[in-house]
Amino acid sequence: MKIIKGLLVGGFAASLLLSAASASSAEVNLYSSRQPFLIDPLLKAFTDETGIKVNMVYLKKGMLERLKAEGRNSPADLVLTSDVGNLSNLVEAGLLQPVNSKILNANIPANLRQPDGLWYALTTRARVIFAHKERVKSDDVMTYEDLAAPRMKGRVCVRSGKHEYNISLLASIIADKGEVAAETWARGVKNNLARRPQGNDRAQVKAIYQGECDVSLGNTYYMGKMATNDKDPVQKEWAKSVRIIFPNQKGRGTHVNISGAGVTKSAKNKANAVRLVEFLAGDKAQEMYARGNFEYPVKSGVPLHPLVASWGTFKADKVPMSKVAAQRTLATRIMDRVRFDN
Ligand code: FE
Repeated sequence: MKIIKGLLVGGFAASLLLSAASASSAEVNLYSSRQPFLIDPLLKAFTDETGIKVNMVYLKKGMLERLKAEGRNSPADLVLTSDVGNLSNLVEAGLLQPVNSKILNANIPANLRQPDGLWYALTTRARVIFAHKERVKSDDVMTYEDLAAPRMKGRVCVRSGKHEYNISLLASIIADKGEVAAETWARGVKNNLARRPQGNDRAQVKAIYQGECDVSLGNTYYMGKMATNDKDPVQKEWAKSVRIIFPNQKGRGTHVNISGAGVTKSAKNKANAVRLVEFLAGDKAQEMYARGNFEYPVKSGVPLHPLVASWGTFKADKVPMSKVAAQRTLATRIMDRVRFDN
């Protein structure tokens, strides 16, 4: 397995390397925006089991642009990325091809697959509310809608409304309640902000810890990353200051987003690419994949990381992810209309 960082020069070298490599049959070329620390052990397990070599190019950013530029000549057979927004952008650009697999259909719930088999979820993450343990009473915030309630004035911190995580959340609200209600919600949350949207999901928890606000939105795995952070132990204190609220348990359920995979239209090793996705959707890989980043497996019956299990079970919004993806353009327009970040 070779890993080449997605820098311009490195990327060019990687393309040469991948084209040269694609002459042999037992291999697959992967573009991944998911990090090597998480993916490497999975690829090694795949190669050990199947003998198929994986050539991975890690692309922190720019996967869509790169695949567009490479077109039919792209060496990539398969992509791994997170958020349904990134997957559906690849679909809209016509870069993925349908896959039909009994294994994938059996292991991955229908709402977590693109209806034509253009992408498949491999892990999920819930977008939850982080609430200060003392300043927020246990039943004061129970829904996303509560973040827009007048009693939360000046108490909410959140990252940019244009970030894909928040766009997908808003898109899920459009899917459930329609455009008008979604816009009212976005405006209500904006009016309750303690500060202008800034930073990442973890930075919001830091702000709660420091007393700037009382509640924020964030993906579950960040709680795991903060709570176990030996490199930057202060993050453990941030994590300790908040509790996780799984919103909308009495209604549609908590918004869940995905990471997933799609086979490229340019794939020269399609069968091996499908085999790798099937491997990643299998019991062994699902456990490694989900545990490695404090996410949830998509296959039922796969054990969780003990810390993730300690957060308890919750009702997830079961709206098909493809329906959420379909509302993302409108969600972006709403964020603009309410001037969420200004
Ligand atoms: Fe993230």
